[in-house]
Amino acid sequence: MGKDVVLVTGGAGFIGSHLCLRLFDEGYHVICLDNYFTGRLENFGDRYQELLLSGRFEFLRHDVIHPIALEVDKIYHLACPASPVYYQYNPVKTIKTNVLGTYNMLGLAKRVRARILLASTSEVYGDPQVHPQPETYWGHVNPIGIRSCYDEGKRVAETLMMDYHRQNKVDIRIARIFNTYGPNMAVDDGRVMSNFICQALRGEAITMYGSGEQTRSFCYVSDLVDGLCRLMESEHIGPINLGNDSEITLLELVKTIEKAMGRPLPVEHKPLPQDDPCRRRPDLSKARELLGYEPKVPLEEGVRKTIEYFRKALGD
Ligand code: NAD
Ligand code: UDP
Repeated sequence: MGKDVVLVTGGAGFIGSHLCLRLFDEGYHVICLDNYFTGRLENFGDRYQELLLSGRFEFLRHDVIHPIALEVDKIYHLACPASPVYYQYNPVKTIKTNVLGTYNMLGLAKRVRARILLASTSEVYGDPQVHPQPETYWGHVNPIGIRSCYDEGKRVAETLMMDYHRQNKVDIRIARIFNTYGPNMAVDDGRVMSNFICQALRGEAITMYGSGEQTRSFCYVSDLVDGLCRLMESEHIGPINLGNDSEITLLELVKTIEKAMGRPLPVEHKPLPQDDPCRRRPDLSKARELLGYEPKVPLEEGVRKTIEYFRKALGD
C-alpha cells in the first residue's frame, strides 16, 4: 500500500507550492490543483522535472468554483487569492471561490470520505477589538466593505465546514492563518513584505500606507506549513490559529529590512486603505498545546532569505 493521495487546491500558489513539496518529500502522492490566477509553475523551480517524472505528482488545471470528481484521501483547501490587491480585483469571483469552492471541495470530501483542511484566515477577526486574537473571538468585520469579499467569504467557508461536519460527519480541520511570508511570493503580489522588499531592491521608496504604526505578526512559510501538516494529522478540528506571535509595527519592519540590506530606505507615506486592521497578533495557546506547534524562524532570518529570493526573482 502506498501513502495517501493528497489534493492541494491552490497548490501552485505561495503557500501551496511549499506545502506540495513538503508532502511530496514525505512520500505522499500529490495532486496540485490550481487555476493559475495568482499561482505559477515557476514556484516549483528546478524541482519541476523531478516532480513530473516521479509518477506521484500531478498538476491539474481546474477552477474550484466548478465541481470535480477525484479519488483522494486528504484535501488541503487553499485555493483563493490572499493578497488584498488580487482578492479585490474581481470581488465577486473571490466570494465564489470561497463559498462555491469550499462547497465543492466539501462535496468531494463527503463523497470519498477524505479529511479536508480549510486555509482560513486571521481576516475572520476583521479589525479586531480583542488583542491578541484567540479562536473564541467572533471578530469585528465590516460585511459591506472592500475586504468583505475575502473576510466574509472565509467566514462562510468556515460555516460550511462546520455544517458539513455536524450534518454529514465530514472529517474537517480549520486553520486560521496569520500573515505569512517567504520565497515564492509573487513580485507584484501587493502584500507588505513583497512590496517593501522589492521596492528596497529596486531602489524605490517604501510605500507606507498610513502612519506605519499598525502592527502585524509575520510568520515564515516553513513554520506555517509545519503547522498545517500538524493540524491535518491531529485529532483536533479547530479552528486553530497558525502564525507567529512576534508583533511589530510596519515601521519596525522597515528597520529590519534596512538592517538586512545594510542601508537606510526612503519611506513615502500613502493613504491607509479602507478597513485596514490596526493590530494583529495570534493567540497561539491552542496551537502550542494541542499541536505542539512552535514557530522557529526569527524575522531577521526570514527577511534575509526572502530578500535573497526576490533578488533572484528580480534578476539582480
Ligand atoms: P496565493 O495567491 O499565492 O495562492 C492562492 C492559490 O490559489 C494560487 O495558486 C491561485 O492561482 C489559486 N486559486 C485562486 N482562485 C482559485 C480558484 N478559483 N480555483 C483554483 N485555484 C485558485 O496565496 P497564499 O498566500 O499562498 O494563500 C493560500 C491560502 O492561504 C489562501 O486560501 C489564503 O486565503 C490563505 N491565507 C494566506 C495568508 C498569507 O499570509 N499568505 C494569510 C491568511 C490566509
Ligand atoms: N501595506 C503598506 N504598504 C504596502 C502594502 C501594504 O503599508 O505597500 C500595509 C497595509 O496597509 C497593512 C499591512 O501593510 O496595514 C499589511 O498588508 P498586507 O496587504 O500585507 O496584508 P493584510 O494583513 O492587510 O491582509
